[in-house]
Amino acid sequence: MRKVLKNSNPTDVLNTVFGYKTFRSNQEEIIRHIIAGNDALVLMPTGGGKSLVFQIPALCLEGTAIVVSPLISLMQDQVNALKAFGVRAAILNSTLSADAAYRTTISMINGEFDLVYVSPERLNTESFLESLSRTKISLFAIDEAHCVSQWGHDFRPEYTKFSMLKERFPNIRRVALTATADKTTREDIIKTLHLEDCKVFISGFDRANIHYSVGVKDREKKQLLNFITKEHSGDSGIVYCISRKKVEDITEFLKAEGFNAFPYHAGLDKKTREQNQDRFIKEDSVIMVATIAFGMGIDKSDVRFVAHMDLPKSMESYYQETGRAGRDGLPSDAWLVYGLQDIVWQRSFIGNSTADDEHKKLECKKLNSIIGYVESVDCRRRVLLDYFDEKYPRNCGNCDNCLNPPITYDATSHIQKLLSCIYRVNVSSGSFGFGAGHFINILIGKEDEKVKRYSHDKLSTFGIGKDVSVSQWQAITRQLVIKGLIDVDPQHQTIKLTPKAISVLKDKNAKVELRKDIPKTKKPGAKEKREFASDKDSELFKKLKALRLELAKQENMPPYIIFHDKTLMEMASREPKTMSDMGKISGVGEHKLKTYGEAFLRVINEELS
Ligand code: ADP
Ligand code: ZN
Repeated sequence: MRKVLKNSNPTDVLNTVFGYKTFRSNQEEIIRHIIAGNDALVLMPTGGGKSLVFQIPALCLEGTAIVVSPLISLMQDQVNALKAFGVRAAILNSTLSADAAYRTTISMINGEFDLVYVSPERLNTESFLESLSRTKISLFAIDEAHCVSQWGHDFRPEYTKFSMLKERFPNIRRVALTATADKTTREDIIKTLHLEDCKVFISGFDRANIHYSVGVKDREKKQLLNFITKEHSGDSGIVYCISRKKVEDITEFLKAEGFNAFPYHAGLDKKTREQNQDRFIKEDSVIMVATIAFGMGIDKSDVRFVAHMDLPKSMESYYQETGRAGRDGLPSDAWLVYGLQDIVWQRSFIGNSTADDEHKKLECKKLNSIIGYVESVDCRRRVLLDYFDEKYPRNCGNCDNCLNPPITYDATSHIQKLLSCIYRVNVSSGSFGFGAGHFINILIGKEDEKVKRYSHDKLSTFGIGKDVSVSQWQAITRQLVIKGLIDVDPQHQTIKLTPKAISVLKDKNAKVELRKDIPKTKKPGAKEKREFASDKDSELFKKLKALRLELAKQENMPPYIIFHDKTLMEMASREPKTMSDMGKISGVGEHKLKTYGEAFLRVINEELS
């Protein structure tokens, strides 16, 4: 394949090479800005189409684009995808033998590639910089640019050395890209990479196709099973768990229920991890059960759901993890369950860490933000985007709180009952502590062994909360822990009042609204979702998918590199009959039309004859 596109128009490249009709949001503006010779910092949500922003200039400009990316799997995926579009792309990282790396470098110097993806370690070596000085370079793209920031979640020391690019290649345009928006990180990127004069492009962070929902744990395995069976049978998804042990447990559970589930965590050997990841990427309908060790650099576009079985530690990690769903723009779910335990556990984790006080304070603040999110009664999307300094103007209509508004109620009298119950018991039993369950038993008047042993059935608060269900008492307790009225000892799970609670107890005019935990039943009736379901279920779509899987296996490649679900769905609904019709389907560029067009046309014609 030869590059014949130099000096061509970005829109022509978008149409002919990638087979896409129009640019998304501000892609075109950024591309023109870069082609004109300027630097840029690009913030776009996952799946927003960041890659095209440097790939198209790379194809329009003379010379080779050098792309730094921290993750081997991501690089491999992007290079495979580019090759499938007929673009001359190569990789330079530690997976190559010395000999192969040498040959690739020589080809790079000879101008045989449009894009070369390189690891940060290699970019920092003197020998590679030397090779670059002998290469005609069109631009530098620094992907996952938030890795320069110490405050970010993926700090990579090698990234801080990229300031040398400005010194050594002062005339080459540089574009830094990231999906992590926070202001400090942004400033760090500009400072560290010397992008002082660059233009910053911030696209909205909203992932409109993702439906957010949050529930309170109540037999969590059953909740997960319900969710997957009802909403996502046959789909690929990721289930995040807090610990390795839980990953193993949930994997076994899903397997026993007949799902194609695999575990992924740092305790598994490298080979098993790679195998499991490979199956997730290359097969359809695989569920990956994982700790947060999984996901960085996973570019699988058809992940239909991301489920969190435990509370994430920050909004950043939650947004990044849920962002792995629906990169192809089709309706997808971000689903989460949490409970009191999660909050206690995460708090004690921060308390016991060896980090300095400044870091601990920051982590507490981050944790409080995610707790605020899960407890919120407002539109989830608004709360999320607000956290990233973006105003969402209305209620989204595609989250649990919008579709099924939660109920709040005046819980003052309940709260006073619970607080005075804790107060009395703790005063009478001195240093001896009890867990939340014991207090709830006293309130509902349950004469269990422990209640009797301590004569707590003789207390004036015994049975004063009979009118309230156990789950509602649990909800009240949890919300009071969050509000800082109750303290939970992370080791013994015993609870006690905080000074703040004492003032609420004494204040006769106090009024506190709480949220009622209600089982979530309604699910979006969004139009797109229904259309998607019918296309997804069509016989033709299934056959096209089967062909794709067969071709992908032959080429040892993920199926979505050949065509995305969206492209196959469009084929299934528009039923192209000629090569020229086929070329009009979004995602079918000239090269893919030549390579795969006939085979997919054959399946369509067979189905229709
Ligand atoms: P990001 O890197 O921002 O997460 P990608 O660059 O991987 O996102 O793009 C996400 C998906 O959207 C890719 O499959 C890409 O091919 C597709 N895409 C990007 N831009 C367009 C466009 N203008 N029209 C159609 N599809 C696009
Ligand atoms: Zn909403």
